[in-house]
Amino acid sequence: MLFAVKDLELRKIRFETSFAPGRIDFLDPALKQVAPLEASGVAELAGPLEDIRVHGRLAGSLEGKCDRCLEPVPLKVGGEFDLLYRPAEADSAQAERAISEEDTEVGYYEGSGVQLEDVVREQVLLWLPLHVFCQPGCKGICPTCGVNRNREACACQAPRLDDRWAALKNFKTGD
Ligand SMILES: [Zn+2]
Ligand SMILES: [Zn+2]
Repeated sequence: MLFAVKDLELRKIRFETSFAPGRIDFLDPALKQVAPLEASGVAELAGPLEDIRVHGRLAGSLEGKCDRCLEPVPLKVGGEFDLLYRPAEADSAQAERAISEEDTEVGYYEGSGVQLEDVVREQVLLWLPLHVFCQPGCKGICPTCGVNRNREACACQAPRLDDRWAALKNFKTGD
């Protein structure tokens, strides 16, 4: 869904839509949308630079992967959002102009307007944590045998320094 400047010059656009999983590419193979993403709100022009302001509500469920053990982790996103998109050429012309008095995030758009899909992707990624863990003290995967150490204790030990020295010594005598 495109919010085109030429339409927004006439009137604000209200939207209420639902994105099925797969409609939005979140650019991260570890991230999966597991339920429809509901988006509703208003797009309108703001300020003297023809900024496009998109604000409203979003709610959805995604699934990420634990950074340590790679198990799936449910990620709920939702709440109110308020994003501002400036024509890409506007800031290069007025580089030092104060961005906005309001505390909104500013992005840029090129061409005729802003796609709702891009707005939704941006807001969802802003909400998601940088690192995802299945639980606060996740023990991760054993680098030696590959078991998930949250579920199973393995008998692997970290390689000992003197073992490596022994291997090196054998190699030298065999040479
Ligand atoms: Zn984990
Ligand atoms: Zn192990």
